[in-house]
Amino acid sequence: MPSSNSALSDVTVKCVCLRDVQHQARAQRLIQHAVSSDRLPHAYIFHGPDGVGKEMFAHAVAKLLLCESPNLSDEANKDSCGTCQSCVLINAGNHPDLHLVYRQLAANHPDSAVRSRKALDLGVDVIRHFVIDAVGLRPTVGPVKVFVIREADKITPQAQNALLKTLEEPPETTFLILLASAAERLLATTRSRCQMVGFASLPVEFVARKLIELVEGLDDTTAQLLAVLSQGSLGRAVLYAQDGFADVFGEVAQMLVGLDQNSASTHSKRIVDIAKESADRYKKRDKNLSDSAARRVALGDILGAMATWYGNHLHAASGRSNPLAALKQGVNQEMAARSIDAISDAEFRLSQNAHAPLCIDGLMFELASV
Ligand SMILES: [Zn+2]
Repeated sequence: MPSSNSALSDVTVKCVCLRDVQHQARAQRLIQHAVSSDRLPHAYIFHGPDGVGKEMFAHAVAKLLLCESPNLSDEANKDSCGTCQSCVLINAGNHPDLHLVYRQLAANHPDSAVRSRKALDLGVDVIRHFVIDAVGLRPTVGPVKVFVIREADKITPQAQNALLKTLEEPPETTFLILLASAAERLLATTRSRCQMVGFASLPVEFVARKLIELVEGLDDTTAQLLAVLSQGSLGRAVLYAQDGFADVFGEVAQMLVGLDQNSASTHSKRIVDIAKESADRYKKRDKNLSDSAARRVALGDILGAMATWYGNHLHAASGRSNPLAALKQGVNQEMAARSIDAISDAEFRLSQNAHAPLCIDGLMFELASV
């Protein structure tokens, strides 16, 4: 899976109530149970793939906690009213007691030295100013304050250590929700102080349907393809639609069809070029993204698409229906499985900062010889 990508939050978060968040039944049950028994933990980690509704759900929880007349009549499905002053403020993104914390807030830090740094991660200055110090203040208008921290897996170890006491003993009126696509990157001490809530990938059919609603002019076949390529992440699928990733997939699929030892090198160069174009787009969206992080996300997208192409042959061989059947070529099940292993190895090497062109070159030769 490509690494965490903050651009996803902007394309999918809409103001919703708990009941509106779909296909996250486990998270729904956990939160409803805690609300019903009046024992909502004060620190949560919502973890799972990007773009599947973690931030949307965190907003819905905040909305319930801050709602002036929550609907509590249905014991099993308590929810915000959606219409009171507080709910309206949250819908408008203006509630003073809902604190959204993200790396780019460094640009609003009172210290000019912090403002001038590139916000590659959530450093101790940002966490101190926007979380730890703010937690100590009384709520402005509501009964509680809610902090939602995006990309919490990018909180530096130093900042996590500074945050431990707050996570352990937050004031009665404070709730913290950390959002993480890779919770394992958080310190064990951070994780142990929070209630973990896992979020799953969304069903492909659901992503495809939503995609058609959200992206104007998208046809069924492309929506279905992007839903598969996004691996059940609506946020990622929307970005793919905006970036024309279906065309990239088409080009990569063509390379794989005709791949042999003679063409491997040319194809690997082209893949590195495609990744560079797409990394440039990611960096345009997020000016604080480092070159290497942008390239990792972009290459991750392409390798993911390659694995999906080979995975399609596994599906075909197992007799299961799949939306990419039209792309089926002469690859047997064993070859497909070995190719997917080789792609996973390359993904791992890239995550360990391997030299990208060499790594992709090696992969293409390996795929050609499978
Ligand atoms: Zn309300």
